[in-house]
Amino acid sequence: MLLSKVFRAGLQSGIRLQSSSAATAKAAAASSSNAGSLGFSFELTDQQKEFQQLARKFAREEMIPVAAAYDRSGEYPFPIIKKAWELGLINGHIPQEYGGMGLSIFDSCLITEELAYACTGMQTAMEANSLGQMPVIIAGNDAQKKKYLGRMTEEPLMCAYCVTEPGAGSDVANIKTRAVRVGDDYVVNGQKMWITNGGKANWYFLLARTNPDPKCPAGKAFTGFIVDADTPGIQVGRKEMNMGQRCSDTRGITFEDVRIPKENVLITEGAGFKIAMGAFDNTRPPVAAGATGLAQRALDEATNYALERKTFGKAIAEHQAVSFILAEMAMKVELARMAYQRSAWEVDQGRRNTYYASIAKAFAGDIANQVATDAVQVFGGNGFNSEYPVEKLMRDAKIYQIYEGTAQIQRLIISREHFGKYKK
Ligand SMILES: Cc1cc2nc3c(=O)[nH]c(=O)nc-3n(C[C@H](O)[C@H](O)[C@H](O)COP(=O)(O)OP(=O)(O)OC[C@H]3O[C@@H](n4cnc5c(N)ncnc54)[C@H](O)[C@@H]3O)c2cc1C
Repeated sequence: MLLSKVFRAGLQSGIRLQSSSAATAKAAAASSSNAGSLGFSFELTDQQKEFQQLARKFAREEMIPVAAAYDRSGEYPFPIIKKAWELGLINGHIPQEYGGMGLSIFDSCLITEELAYACTGMQTAMEANSLGQMPVIIAGNDAQKKKYLGRMTEEPLMCAYCVTEPGAGSDVANIKTRAVRVGDDYVVNGQKMWITNGGKANWYFLLARTNPDPKCPAGKAFTGFIVDADTPGIQVGRKEMNMGQRCSDTRGITFEDVRIPKENVLITEGAGFKIAMGAFDNTRPPVAAGATGLAQRALDEATNYALERKTFGKAIAEHQAVSFILAEMAMKVELARMAYQRSAWEVDQGRRNTYYASIAKAFAGDIANQVATDAVQVFGGNGFNSEYPVEKLMRDAKIYQIYEGTAQIQRLIISREHFGKYKK
């Protein structure tokens, strides 16, 4: 194995130059060989190229060879996650003061795209850590961050984001899980569903209703908690057997008289809805990057196949009908990449990126499905068979139109943001 802990140490020290603070980021940019390119630029810094190369190498050497076996068995890919953790390829966005590398969302996205290229089942398991951690990163106090983010940099632990319920996914304000203040604790009862890393998490971000008044606005009715997964009263359901991304661990979780200390409330009672939704501005760009990685893989597989497979005396790539399918696929992949990079760049500038994040997530999710379906078409009968890689891509792609806000919910957000610009 060429990748080593030594490389990780080297990469980490390199990454540290790129602190999330604007001042050090500027200094790092100035010291890179790309300095001098003012204004708009598609050029990555030397360090960004390094992260990308490291992730690409890991994806191709460590993940691709075992992806089909994990897909078949549905086994959780912990050995891969552990290696990725050792290399600093997950949890990169945890701030440096809590032991992390303080990567920007843009930099995290570059890594995400590469890992997703190999297997989005494994990559979703890794990405669920970002989703679980993000409410703590954006809203946790110092003690909460030290305790819950800090431990994830000391050992390869997982966490999860517990919001969806059997009766409410898109309609988050309709969740029924209740938290009632009793002395210094909150007592939680309710049921969550479709929780990625549900059975593997060391702790959860939990959204629960604290104000029972149905007229109370969502912005005040819900509270966000950090919950240790071994708290008495938590029952983890069976692993769900999904269409794709089958090695990712998705479960229902029941909370029965679970006592959470008040120290584990994020910000304050009533602030939970904004925290839960605010996390998406940071996590939708990486989800879009994951969908782009899958689409790039589909394009590469289909192109290589088209250059080799012959019909009617020539490579199928030489039939214009096939080459145009590949051209359309390439257009979509390039545009999805630009969309996720723009949305990540916006949030890294400290600007509200909700509009761009939803555009990136919706577009990349849709094109991942189109491009994976086209790849199956280019492979013909072989595309329909599990001995070839593209049928897995088609199954894996579907979830990108569902989780982290469905394709329809993204359009709802985009239209709301769009009209907002026209209202005086
Ligand atoms: C594999 C997997 C992993 C997941 N991981 C997590 C996780 O880690 N944490 C978590 O909290 N959740 C997770 N989810 C849940 C996911 O976010 C929800 O499934 C998703 O938000 C959709 O909610 P729903 O399933 O209740 O569908 P519904 O909300 O019931 O929607 C059903 C359909 O109606 C459409 N629809 C709903 N409302 C509208 C509207 N107003 N306008 C137009 N169309 C609408 C939707 O787009 C969809 O097509 C996961 C789900 C899956 C399948």
